Amino acid sequence: MKFSIITLFPNLINSYISESIIKRAIEKNKIEIEVLDLRNFTNYSHNQVDDYQFGGGKGMVLMVEPVVNAIESCKTKNSKVILTSPQGKTWKQNLAREFAKNEEHIIIICGHYEGFDERILDYVDLEVSIGDYVLTGGELASLIFVDSITRLIDGVIAKESHQNDSFENDLLDHPVYTKPIDFRGKKVPEVLTSGHHANIDKFRQEGRLKNTYNKRPDLLKIDNLSVSDLDYLEVLKNTKGE
Ligand code: SAM
Repeated sequence: MKFSIITLFPNLINSYISESIIKRAIEKNKIEIEVLDLRNFTNYSHNQVDDYQFGGGKGMVLMVEPVVNAIESCKTKNSKVILTSPQGKTWKQNLAREFAKNEEHIIIICGHYEGFDERILDYVDLEVSIGDYVLTGGELASLIFVDSITRLIDGVIAKESHQNDSFENDLLDHPVYTKPIDFRGKKVPEVLTSGHHANIDKFRQEGRLKNTYNKRPDLLKIDNLSVSDLDYLEVLKNTKGE
């Protein structure tokens, strides 16, 4: 999978991708990340990439030509062009999964200032938002796309690590514990140190249901649950999630 990120701030991107799992994914050739400095694609003097908006009003607007030049410099027939924007479709785990499975090359455009010249949209396949709030630029959003897609690519992290993550199977993940067994009198649930795998699996599935019931009941899809899951949900309802 290749990502091409078009940005005014290449250092912001380079700093994040040179650490941890993303760095290792690059080293293992699972992904390639190309960072394109928007200022290298302008034909205006002084590397100008933005200007005042027609009609008046505060805030600079990114010009259409540099952005389209940058897209065209890396686009192939297998590329998908994403525009980071608070006005776009909200990014969710299922979109990350779809992209990890189906795409070969993702071009991500990071906006800044007041936003973009509207004509940029003619060169974009999908406008995507990371949530209902406004950031100063698209760099954080682009890194969120890269990160959430990369960890789902085969061989980047162990499959078991993400198969039961939150949002898989419409549930949140179960609680997890590590050393020490006793922290100020609060103990790790005994079943986890019992070595009894069936009981541990049951405890974890109940943990997923309990977390989802208490924190994100909107995710629960009754049709996807087993009889024992439904029985446990009844218990949760009767005990108000305790
Ligand atoms: N005036 C624009 C509006 O209200 O729709 C907001 C522009 S914002 C200050 C500058 C840039 O940050 C956007 O062009 C986009 O690239 C990025 N951005 C801001 N909020 C975002 C969000 N929620 N999701 C994705 N990108 C975002």
